[in-house]
This record gives sequence, C-alpha cells and structure tokens, in this order.
Amino acid sequence: MKLEKSPQLEPVHIKMEKDDKQNNNTNKPAVRFNDVAGLDEVKEELFEIIDFIKNPTKYHKMGATIPKGILFYGPPGTGKTLLAQALAGETDSSFFPTSGSEFVEKYVGVGAKRVRTLFEKAKKASPSVIFVDEIDAIGAKRTSESNNEKDQTLNQLLIEMDGFHSEQTILVIGATNRLDLLDEALLRPGRFDRHMFIGNPDLHAREEILLVHTKNKPIASSVNIKELAQRTHGMSGAHLSNIANEAAILAVRSNKKDIGINEFNEAIEKVIAGLQRKNAVILDKEKRKVSFHEAGHALMGKILNCDLVSKVSIVPRGEALGYVMYAPEEDRYLTTTSELKNKIKVLLGGRCAEQIIFGEVSTGARDDLQKANTIAYQMVCEYGMSNLKNRVFEPTLIKNCYPLIDGEIKGIIDGCYKEAFVTLESNTDLLSSIANELYKKETLTGEELENILKLHEKKCSLNI
Ligand code: ATP
Repeated sequence: MKLEKSPQLEPVHIKMEKDDKQNNNTNKPAVRFNDVAGLDEVKEELFEIIDFIKNPTKYHKMGATIPKGILFYGPPGTGKTLLAQALAGETDSSFFPTSGSEFVEKYVGVGAKRVRTLFEKAKKASPSVIFVDEIDAIGAKRTSESNNEKDQTLNQLLIEMDGFHSEQTILVIGATNRLDLLDEALLRPGRFDRHMFIGNPDLHAREEILLVHTKNKPIASSVNIKELAQRTHGMSGAHLSNIANEAAILAVRSNKKDIGINEFNEAIEKVIAGLQRKNAVILDKEKRKVSFHEAGHALMGKILNCDLVSKVSIVPRGEALGYVMYAPEEDRYLTTTSELKNKIKVLLGGRCAEQIIFGEVSTGARDDLQKANTIAYQMVCEYGMSNLKNRVFEPTLIKNCYPLIDGEIKGIIDGCYKEAFVTLESNTDLLSSIANELYKKETLTGEELENILKLHEKKCSLNI
C-alpha cells in the first residue's frame, strides 16, 4: 500500500556503494575487468581500446588514431563508473573522475575554465582516462533558450577533445542515463562517437555480479547464488552489491559466523521495500485496510497469472505500509498489450479491494496509480498500443494533442479498473480469506497464499 514494490519496479533506499578500489598515492585505479561481472560484449569492445592505449605506436604506424570519446549510457547503478575505472586500471592510466554537474556554475566562464584545467592535468599525466558522469548536465541539446554559461562549458569540452595531439593518449568517457538529451555536436565522429549501452544485468550476469560481491565473504553452504539471482530480476549491479553488503551487516548484527539465507532474504526485502519499521504504530482499522489492499494486489496477480507472488506483507517498510513481492520465473524482453493491461489491473487491485470492502478508497494507492498511469502513458505514446494505433508521440508533440492522449490513457485505466473491480467483487470471499490471514500473520509466503487458494478451490471454483 502506498508503495507496491516489485523487483521490476524501481527500488527505494539504495545506498550507492561506489567501489573505492583506488591507489591512494596515485590516481591509478586498482580495479580490473575481473571486478566487472557480466557486460561481456561491452568488455570485448573495450579490449580493442585497451590495446590502443597499451600499444599506441602499432596503431600510429598504420595512421590510426585512438578514439577520443566513449559514451556509456543506460540506467543508474549498472556499472558505468566501474567500467571506466577498470579501463583505466587495465591500461595503467591516470583516472580523472568528474561529474557534469561539477562544471555547472552561475558565472560565465567558470565551467569552461574548469574543463581547461582538467584537460591540462590529464595531458600532463597521460595516458589518462577522464570520466564525466552525468554528462547531460553540460552536454544537453542547445536551444535558443540555452544558458550562456552551459554553452561555453560544452564548447570548451568540444575544443579540448578536438585539440589532443596524437601522442597524447587521453580517453574521455562520458556517462548518462539519457542519450537522447545530448547535443549532436557531442556525438559526432571524432568526439563521443562510440556509444555503448550498459543495461541492467540478465539472470546469468546477476549471478556473476553476486559471485563477485560475495567472493570475499563467508557464505553459508545452504545459500544458492543462482536462486538469489532468479529472485533479483530487474535489479542493477548496485542493488546486488548492496544486497551482499546488507546481508553481511545483518550477519554481524546477529553474531553469526557466516551469512545465511535469512540474511539474504532480509537484505533483498530491505533493498526492494526499504527498512522494516518495527515500531510503526498503525491503527487497527488501517491495518485492516492495508490487509485488504495488499490482498487485492496478490489475488489479482494470482488470477491473471502475472509474475509469481513470493510474499505479501503488511509489515511497514520505508514509506510502504504493505507490499507484494513478485518472483518472475524468467527474464523477459518483450511484453504484450494484454500483459501490460494485466500489470495495470494488478496495480489497481489494491484500490478496487478497498472500494469493494469499505465502500470508499484511501490515499494508500498513490504510488500504484502513478505506476499504472505511467504504463498506460507508455502504451499510448511509446508503444502504439491504443486506439490511436501505431502512433508514437514525441514529448514536443504531446503538448499539442494532449486531450486526445489523455482520453486514451483514461480509456485504458478505466477499462482495467472496471475489469479488476468485477473480478475481485466476484471473488470477495477469497479476497477476505487472504486479507484475514494476512491481518493475522502480517506476512504470507507465496506457498501460504497458494494454500489459501487451494483450500478455497476445494470449496468453490474461482470466478474469473
Ligand atoms: P550511475 O549512473 O548512477 O552513476 P553507474 O552505472 O556508474 O551508476 P557504478 O557506480 O559503476 O554505476 O556501480 C555502482 C556499484 O555497483 C559498483 O561500485 C559495484 O559495486 C556495483 N556494480 C554495478 N555493476 C556491476 C558489475 N557489472 N559488476 C560488479 N559490480 C557492479
């Protein structure tokens, strides 16, 4: 309730644990490609650049020049910084980490001067790798409304990149979560012309990342890393390293000799749904409402056969008063129209349950509504899955035809709400059985939920 958390959705309370493997005396990182799990295709492409930096004469003889800029793009916490560090580490280059926002200043010329100074230092320490995180802060598309200071900073970066001599081995790596925001001038050949997508890890990569981050930790023999990888679908490398770290801290807290499955379970929940609020005082009538709300999500998920429900809980965590955890069986890359609609119905199931049982809704569905509306918006504007058929609406177009788009979003949301409502209303007994059990026990495992359903099925069949 309030936050309906699933591993596919953006987790909260993530402490980004940056790898601080760095030689203190020099700015040469001790990170190597071995420390970066998964991302095999990206590493393969980078091997060529490593060879360039290690054996520049071989390439100079052929008249080839080293690429000046590489752009890593993709969601946060997927290892962009780590890869840049590893590239510097593998080539014994000096590493200059910085962030686009560090160059954003009020006074015209200050950002540009900082860029100049940075490149001067990098040239002196060559071979060097300059890493500019959040490069969109200075490299966003220039418009007529652009601000002078930002333009000067970006211009200076372009000038510096154009101005290396071939003997100076300086590689600039930019990172962004939004490639589409960047100015064309930055992306053209000779500047950041190699673009590499760094996405969230798949099942195999998640297993490898967990292995990297548990390598130096005493793990109980009962812990199955493969199984943990299966349960962490949708999480980034940063989430996974955070889980390994949290599990270790929990084991210390309980005076254990090694890290067991209970610590990992607790750590996964902590990362998905935030800290357990052990002493949260919740009014009894609110607890009942939360129980029905979460039961609504879980039952809709079961009826529509969405991702496997692995746990339903009304123990408050972070901002959430309750949550449902899902364990997808496999990595998915394509989603159909009906699957997206089913996701919306599961999200709206909590609110429907409240309306059916209590005759009115509460504020607890805010987060569900936001997520459901985001999916509906994407279906209309990005995936061509509405009555507007195969149309895609660019952000600039949306303003002009907003009523049309809004009508389509409303159609999807209202339709899904109605279907979820009818489905839950015709299964009110089962909804109540789940909610009452949840109210009593506060947490139900996927198996316990299954047992309630089986018991109910013996008595009467599901109304779908
Ligand atoms: P942001 O876009 O938010 O800056 P990022 O993509 O640069 O994030 P990193 O800072 O590189 O992400 O990753 C954060 C931490 O997550 C790393 O220090 C590391 O502990 C872990 N991590 C992420 N990806 C991997 C990976 N592929 N292998 C091993 N560890 C990883």
